[in-house]
Amino acid sequence: MEETEFNDKRALVTGAGKGIGRGIAVRLANLGTKVYAISRTQTDLDNLKQEVPSIETRLLDISDWETTRKVVEDLGPIDLLVNNAAVIKHTPFFDVTKEELDEQHDINFRAAFNITQVVTKGMAERGTGGAVVNISSIAGIRTTMNHSCYSTSKAALDMLTLSLAHELGPKKIRVNSVNPTVVMTEMGKRGWNDPEKKAAALAKIPVGRFAEIEDIVNATVYLLSDKSSMINGVVLPVDGGMINSFI
Ligand code: NAP
Repeated sequence: MEETEFNDKRALVTGAGKGIGRGIAVRLANLGTKVYAISRTQTDLDNLKQEVPSIETRLLDISDWETTRKVVEDLGPIDLLVNNAAVIKHTPFFDVTKEELDEQHDINFRAAFNITQVVTKGMAERGTGGAVVNISSIAGIRTTMNHSCYSTSKAALDMLTLSLAHELGPKKIRVNSVNPTVVMTEMGKRGWNDPEKKAAALAKIPVGRFAEIEDIVNATVYLLSDKSSMINGVVLPVDGGMINSFI
């Protein structure tokens, strides 16, 4: 990656308080990008700011549609958007409540829709183009037990990627998805710490390991960069070959 390529860019990363989003925010800032980091726990944002003082933080729950629009509009021009924030609850289908379904779809899908609408409208009006990466999941392409809310939210996010790649491509705005397998962040640990589940998942990954945060950061930064200027509308598994494996 050209070090200078990101120097004059402004990026917004959601869910940048922890895990993958934090990794993306730090990498982009270290490449010289002006980074705006959104998350909903102040101590996480303080910790991020302490590590990389150039990062601007905003405390925001992105499931609040109107407040989110206002906060994002107030940031000014954004060239690179990473929709990363998400939540997961592992609930059997018969036990899912409306509140649980709403929460996962509001944060994982509708908030990305909302933020992308504000940010890409600005890109289109300025005529400068831009790039959007939606952090989805292999659970948007395949599914597993107790994933009915999460998988449907990620499948919707992936279809948003395809729709916007088509609709915004003529405005020089590229939109792609990055779809990780298990990463042992706080979210990953909640789902896969159980030794039996962990071993079963690992056995399905040809490269024999879970993804690291850096694996997801690398794919994301590539799709944000001009090196991928002809890549638009891909749903990219970062999964060591997991979803293609028969056994
Ligand atoms: P994580 O460790 O749980 O971090 C998620 C971050 O998003 C946290 O900082 C969280 O803040 C923030 N966030 C959640 N809801 C928010 C809201 N309503 N408003 C603002 N911020 C919010 O998760 P992760 O593992 O890094 O996951 C990052 C992305 O990768 C997600 O899209 C996830 O679906 C995807 N992914 C993860 C895995 C995995 O195994 N880890 C696998 C496939 C895909 P709080 O902690 O303060 O709530």
